[in-house]
Amino acid sequence: MTAELREIAGRLGDVPAYVYDLAALDAHAARVREAMRGTEVYYAVKANPDPAVLRTLAPHVDGFEVSSGGEFDHVSALFPGRRLAFGGPGKTAADLARRPYRFHVESPRELDLLTGDVLLRVNLRVASEGAALAMSGPFGMDPEMVAECRNRSGDFRIRGIHAHLASGLDAPALLGLAKTIADHALPGEEMCVGGGMAVDYTDPANVFDWETYGEGLRGLGRPVIRIEPGRAMTAYCGWYLTKVLDVKRVHGELFAVLTGGTHHLRTPVTKGHDQPFTVFGSAGQDEEITLVGQLCTPKDVFARRVRAALRPGDVVAFAMAGAYAYNISHHDFLMHPKPEFHYVSGMP
Ligand SMILES: *Cc1c(COP(=O)(O)O)cnc(C)c1O
Repeated sequence: MTAELREIAGRLGDVPAYVYDLAALDAHAARVREAMRGTEVYYAVKANPDPAVLRTLAPHVDGFEVSSGGEFDHVSALFPGRRLAFGGPGKTAADLARRPYRFHVESPRELDLLTGDVLLRVNLRVASEGAALAMSGPFGMDPEMVAECRNRSGDFRIRGIHAHLASGLDAPALLGLAKTIADHALPGEEMCVGGGMAVDYTDPANVFDWETYGEGLRGLGRPVIRIEPGRAMTAYCGWYLTKVLDVKRVHGELFAVLTGGTHHLRTPVTKGHDQPFTVFGSAGQDEEITLVGQLCTPKDVFARRVRAALRPGDVVAFAMAGAYAYNISHHDFLMHPKPEFHYVSGMP
């Protein structure tokens, strides 16, 4: 990959580029599949719905988790007949008229309006210490509402329960949550324990312990357990390449101004981290420097006061840009050009 990345960096113009390493994604997904044997794996499409990414993942997953009618239609068109779990709050009548393998029901009212096989999404008040994001608030139903659903009858079959309680947790913490969720499933029911596997942006080598998680879930002894990983599946396969336009010191602080910006890669701003990166360019003395983009807002920052040697013309390749990256960014702000997309190591 490094050779291909270097080659693309070498011919990068003034338009930034996303590079997806599909061979790395394929190998990673195969590793996850093996570690999670005995557990169904559905990829959470909202992390990255790029068709080449989805095609690479397809052989390694049991299905896809979609969170909108748009995602449902996108994935259905790419993979007719594949199993889809349709979740997400605020489903419209048109959403509820679709026919996924499983609906994840958010309220008794939704249950009354739909037809098919459902999991009841339970919202539990749990202490998720260390979580990057706790999914509290309006998502799913409290145990009383779940009980209300179980007393209803209609054109649906309750197959089990679903929960996605927090994100950014390590394997032992997620296993603890899975045990709590299991208390809310009836014997023989399916349970989907969501996504949220930790991704460490400060250390790309510190990956989620899929082996421990897989072994722990198998140990729960449930007939059907499903997970819905998003970020931890695709974060590592994406790179965002941009070029240094200017380097200057303002009131004592050194800045590198890069092509593109957070309208292409919003991840570091939304998560509050420094995006890890590699520099292709002239070697020099490392200095403390802040990497910013072309937007007219002080929030357009990729990495703050990190150490690097940067000169105009160098290419900065931001790593870990394969999840919640391009697709959560505000592309139209300031009307800069859209990035190019490159798919390396074999397009499926
Ligand atoms: C976003 C989401 C996921 C994926 O979460 P990650 O943190 O990306 O693994 C899974 N399930 C539901 C219901 C979600 O909303």
